[in-house]
Amino acid sequence: MEQKSIALDGPAGAGKSTLARRAAEHFGLIYVDTGALYRCIGLHALRNGINSSDEQGVAGLLHGISIEMKHDGDGLQRMLLCGEDVTDAIRSPESSKYASDVSPMPKVRDFLLSMQREMVVKYDAIMDGRDIGTVVLPNAGLKIFITADMEKRVQRRYLELKEKNSDTVLEEVREAMLLRDKKDRERTVAPLKAADDAVLLDTTLLNLDESFEALCEIISRRFGL
Ligand code: C5P
Repeated sequence: MEQKSIALDGPAGAGKSTLARRAAEHFGLIYVDTGALYRCIGLHALRNGINSSDEQGVAGLLHGISIEMKHDGDGLQRMLLCGEDVTDAIRSPESSKYASDVSPMPKVRDFLLSMQREMVVKYDAIMDGRDIGTVVLPNAGLKIFITADMEKRVQRRYLELKEKNSDTVLEEVREAMLLRDKKDRERTVAPLKAADDAVLLDTTLLNLDESFEALCEIISRRFGL
C-alpha cells in the first residue's frame, strides 16, 4: 500500500498541531511536531547562556546535543533533551522566542533535516512545521497549507496560553506572534510558504471540530480512505 506521508505547514496559531494530533489518531498515523525540535535547540542555547543571535555559539552546541522524540500511550509527543523531559519547558514564551531566533540558522536546519526525514521512513506520518512540503518532504503523498487570519490566530494562541498562565497579556502575544511570523516568512533559508502542490485550508471561519472535519475530508479524498 502507498505510504501515507502528510506534510502540514502553516503559520503559528493556525491550529496545525491540535489538528495534526487528532488526524494522526483518527487515521492511525505517527504525528511529528517539527517545531518541538527547533524549540529544543532554542532551550538548549538558552540554558547554556548562548545569545539567541549568536550563530557560531548555537552551531557549537549542536555536537553535544541529544534530542529524542517519544510517543506515549495517548499519542502525545514527548521531547527529551539530553535525556531530560522538556515537553512543557519548550512551550514557554522565552523558549518560543529562542526557537524562532535559531530556526533561520542554516546549521540548525541542516542538523534537523535528516532527523526529520528519518522519522517518516518507517511509519506513515503526519508532520507539521513551516517547510515540510517545500524542503523536508518534497515528495510527501499529500501537502496541506493551513492558515487563518492573523487576529484569529492571535486570539487562539492567547486563550491557549491564558489557560496555562492567567497573567498572559493579549498585546504581548500579538507582538510575539507578528514577529515570529514575519521572521518565518522572510528568512532566506526554508521560508514559510505553501508548496505549489499544497491543498489550502483556511480555518478563519471554522471552529476546531469543523477544521478537523475539513482536514479529514482532504486526507480521505487523497488516500481513498
Ligand atoms: O511550530 P512551533 O511554533 O512550535 O515552532 C517553533 C519555531 O520553530 C517557529 O517559530 C519557527 O520559527 C520554527 N520552525 C521552523 N521550521 C519548522 C518548524 C518550526 O522554522 N519546520
